[in-house]
Amino acid sequence: MLIDHPAAFRTRAIADVLRPATADEVVAIVRSGRGPLHPISTGHNWGLGSGLPVADGATVLHLGGLDQVRALDLDRGYAVVEPGVTQGALAELVRDTPRIFNLTGSSLHTSVIGNALERGVGVHRARAEDLVGLEVVLADGERHHVGWWPGTSAVPRTHGLGPTLTHLFTQSSFAVVTAAVVRLLPRPEEVRMLPFTFERDDLADAVDVLREWTAQRLIPPTTKVYNPVAAQANGVRDYLAHVCLSGSGDVVEALSSVLLDAARRSPLLAAPASAADEVVRRTYAGEPDPADTWFLRKTTGCPADRVDAELGLLMFLPIVPFSGEAVTLTEKLVRDCCPSAPGVTMNVLDSDTVDHVIGIGFPPGDLAAAAEARETLDRLHDTFAAEGFLPYRRDVDRPVAATALQARIGQALDPGGVFAPGRYSAGR
Ligand SMILES: Cc1cc2nc3c(=O)[nH]c(=O)nc-3n(C[C@H](O)[C@H](O)[C@H](O)COP(=O)(O)OP(=O)(O)OC[C@H]3O[C@@H](n4cnc5c(N)ncnc54)[C@H](O)[C@@H]3O)c2cc1C
Repeated sequence: MLIDHPAAFRTRAIADVLRPATADEVVAIVRSGRGPLHPISTGHNWGLGSGLPVADGATVLHLGGLDQVRALDLDRGYAVVEPGVTQGALAELVRDTPRIFNLTGSSLHTSVIGNALERGVGVHRARAEDLVGLEVVLADGERHHVGWWPGTSAVPRTHGLGPTLTHLFTQSSFAVVTAAVVRLLPRPEEVRMLPFTFERDDLADAVDVLREWTAQRLIPPTTKVYNPVAAQANGVRDYLAHVCLSGSGDVVEALSSVLLDAARRSPLLAAPASAADEVVRRTYAGEPDPADTWFLRKTTGCPADRVDAELGLLMFLPIVPFSGEAVTLTEKLVRDCCPSAPGVTMNVLDSDTVDHVIGIGFPPGDLAAAAEARETLDRLHDTFAAEGFLPYRRDVDRPVAATALQARIGQALDPGGVFAPGRYSAGR
């Protein structure tokens, strides 16, 4: 069987696609020796290879059929979910409760576990921070709980006693994950988006101001900045920053007024309310839109189940210091590498760190355009690596080699190669 992709990635030969419905069935498959297995949750890792394995000959283990929410505790703020539970389903389940789930800007049909194992980025924080425990099936078929698990202690905590094993299994191919414990955030009383614009020449100064506001806790580390290409979706021709304030109504009101005052002494201009998308605001508020509007209408133009067929897309996701100088350099590198200016979104991760989402689109099936897009991506990788601005996620055609210790742990856990080497463990 061949799995193709609209020319974005090399075609892979796949031995089989298996779709278990329970964790017991996963154990049976692992014990059956039908490897090397490539587990995926919903397989919507768009721009990085979706559900493709790195090497030919793997059996894809599609876990979308394991779709139970095994436990939900609104008091202590956690849910135990299986790989097929989508972010939309979990957010819907906690609608109108005192809790919200940290949504990403991707489709509501993407997996909570798939994204957390990729260490994806939610609007409130990195998904890795939502993850407190995993159920893993090892290469010998043994099932283990790592990290925090209900019944072990009263409070879900990322680090228990002793070595923390949870992240041995994120960006890893050491096991199949059949369930995860994820944290739920307290529902804020109010969520308000404040849009600001600034001109291209003010990029460095504006970023330094946003950094200072973040460092001094005037704003949370959740701001998104869109370059003028990406900002067009909001009818803005300059750079657009979406600052999100949330909490009690009084705090949001007070911070808004302090911020608007501070902005008057900066290159940031308060933009009309129309530039602060209501769909985006609701995403921060944890309210899923069943129509998937942000994803479908604002970004891709096609529904989740058509993306692989209708969208030619490569993603480059470098992590960059949160400073005007570094972000200005990033903008220059993107300009130097890309024949036409791509839409770029900058996500603040903390007061020292931002990631950049650089999407390189091309007409699906257009082989010449796809080849050009791949060359552009190679240039971006090389040019950014020279500055130390490395991507936090890799695609299937550009895996990274395991370090010696990672390879040793992989060998100890999976000596027979039951699991296919992944994007973060080439050569294991
Ligand atoms: C317009 C657009 C916007 C996007 N916005 C965001 C965003 O805001 N934030 C973000 O993080 N991403 C974003 N993405 C990227 C992507 O869609 C998401 O990261 C998505 O959540 C990943 O796909 P998935 O959830 O189906 O995971 P999968 O594709 O199922 O899994 C990802 C990888 O994790 C591993 N894995 C998955 N499940 C298992 C398992 N059970 N056991 C062992 N290993 C496993 C595999 O290596 C797999 O390839 C966006 C994409 C687009 C096109």
